[in-house]
Amino acid sequence: MVLVVVGVRPDTDLLVAAGAQTGPRGAVVVDETMATGLPHVWAAGDCVVTHHRLLGVTYLPLGTTAHKQGRVAGEKRARRTCPLRRQSRHAGGQVFDLVAARTGLREHEARAAGFVPATSAARPDDHKAYYPGAQPISIRVTGDAHTGRLLGAQLIGARGTETAKRWTPMPPPSSTA
Ligand SMILES: Cc1cc2nc3c(=O)[nH]c(=O)nc-3n(C[C@H](O)[C@H](O)[C@H](O)COP(=O)(O)OP(=O)(O)OC[C@H]3O[C@@H](n4cnc5c(N)ncnc54)[C@H](O)[C@@H]3O)c2cc1C
Repeated sequence: MVLVVVGVRPDTDLLVAAGAQTGPRGAVVVDETMATGLPHVWAAGDCVVTHHRLLGVTYLPLGTTAHKQGRVAGEKRARRTCPLRRQSRHAGGQVFDLVAARTGLREHEARAAGFVPATSAARPDDHKAYYPGAQPISIRVTGDAHTGRLLGAQLIGARGTETAKRWTPMPPPSSTA
């Protein structure tokens, strides 16, 4: 076996084309809230710089870092604009060996409610494929094409993929003022 370790290069073409600035190793510059400086765009993971406790702004493409950055970016985004806080419909259930979960509106429900839905589907693995036993989870996310509001998401995956645990219930209305 020949093992060639070629390193990691951030894939930033999309953000750079949109006007984002790059820093160490060509990674996209973000602040500590993962904001890119572009309106309404937060970024996380191997494509962005890391604010290191000791080194300052550096490039640290690690899964542990990516997870934390993703949470910060997601929460920042959700708390500012997420319309699901008071109105989403969370549900999860199991049918034989399949687990399904949903939150918010499905596409036809969004259309019936007067939105202009745009839906994106993906089928990522439940964990890194380089570890054995990875299984796909089918995910559909619907937003409003006019406003960019996130409207809902549905997931289906095999039992054991923790499909039903991948959404976080929003706090009740009384605590979201
Ligand atoms: C062999 C190996 C071992 C590692 N071990 C560790 C470790 O022990 N500890 C650690 O902390 N880190 C480890 N890492 C690093 C870690 O995996 C990455 O830092 C982390 O996965 C980066 O997360 P990310 O979300 O930025 O990118 P990724 O995890 O690469 O996710 C990017 C996703 O975007 C998808 N995608 C790409 N293009 C498109 C497109 N056009 N449209 C839609 N989707 C697209 C890809 O399919 C992929 O699912 C390891 C990496 C490798 C390769």
